[in-house]
Amino acid sequence: MNKKYRRLMIALSVVVGALFAAGFAGVFYPPLLFDMQLLPLIQRLSADFSFAALGLLFLLLLFTFLFGRFYCAALCPLGLFQELLFSLFARGRKTKPGRPRPYKYFPAAVFFGALAGSTAFLFRLLDPYTLSASAASGAWFSIALLALLAVLVWFKGRYFCTNICPAGALLGLFARRGVNRIRLDENRCVACGACASRCPTGSIDFKNKKVDNETCVRCLRCLDACPRHGLSFGRKKEKSPAAVPVFSPRRRRLLVAGGAIVLFAAAAKAGGLL
Ligand code: SF4
Ligand code: SF4
Ligand code: SF4
Repeated sequence: MNKKYRRLMIALSVVVGALFAAGFAGVFYPPLLFDMQLLPLIQRLSADFSFAALGLLFLLLLFTFLFGRFYCAALCPLGLFQELLFSLFARGRKTKPGRPRPYKYFPAAVFFGALAGSTAFLFRLLDPYTLSASAASGAWFSIALLALLAVLVWFKGRYFCTNICPAGALLGLFARRGVNRIRLDENRCVACGACASRCPTGSIDFKNKKVDNETCVRCLRCLDACPRHGLSFGRKKEKSPAAVPVFSPRRRRLLVAGGAIVLFAAAAKAGGLL
């Protein structure tokens, strides 16, 4: 099942990546994909409210609550760009397990705080879609930012996604206690660190056997990495209740009465009464 999820994710990323490439090149405009880009969607809502935009935002957040940050794995152009680079770079490198991220909400606070005012510069700097589209259109400033991002991916994996991106900070709040999560089975885990070394976001603290589902971008790499099948994606498994015998006074009375009848019949037969 784990392999199936991972293959599905890769296939979805390839299709969406091709759609973005076609859209940015002006060959084909995939409307829903572009319309659902999170930060431009929130800006549209704040500037010009519409129920269609509100419904789309609600769906994105609901989907994130149900399945985690899949948006970051397959629907964000900058996420796809970083995934591609990480897959290329990570062949010879290992990422380090996650560390506390005390300032991760700061860029999001600045970004959302400024939404009401003029935000063109902030959008070019921090919105993954605007940055990608403007780099694709040949704007040197955005191309330079993407080059910087590539260096960041080389050294720190998807640091931008876990510490800087306002969209990631917002989605993380919904993914944190979501329904389907990456789960680490403490009984299977031997703390070898193989999963953590492949995680682009440093979300796996293998020493304490914990996964940070707020920063996890659902690339699903770790599922393949564990030699002991200690990681899975899904809902919390309910422990099957132990088979505890249920005490029933009525049933006990029936058993006693039945036993007494059998004993009486046996005694009567032995005494020649029956
Ligand atoms: S965190 Fe931001 S840049 Fe990274 S994938 Fe998510 S939306 Fe895109
Ligand atoms: S790869 Fe498996 S066994 Fe190793 S730390 Fe991760 S979950 Fe534990
Ligand atoms: S915890 Fe697993 S699924 Fe999440 S980002 Fe890390 S490797 Fe990907």
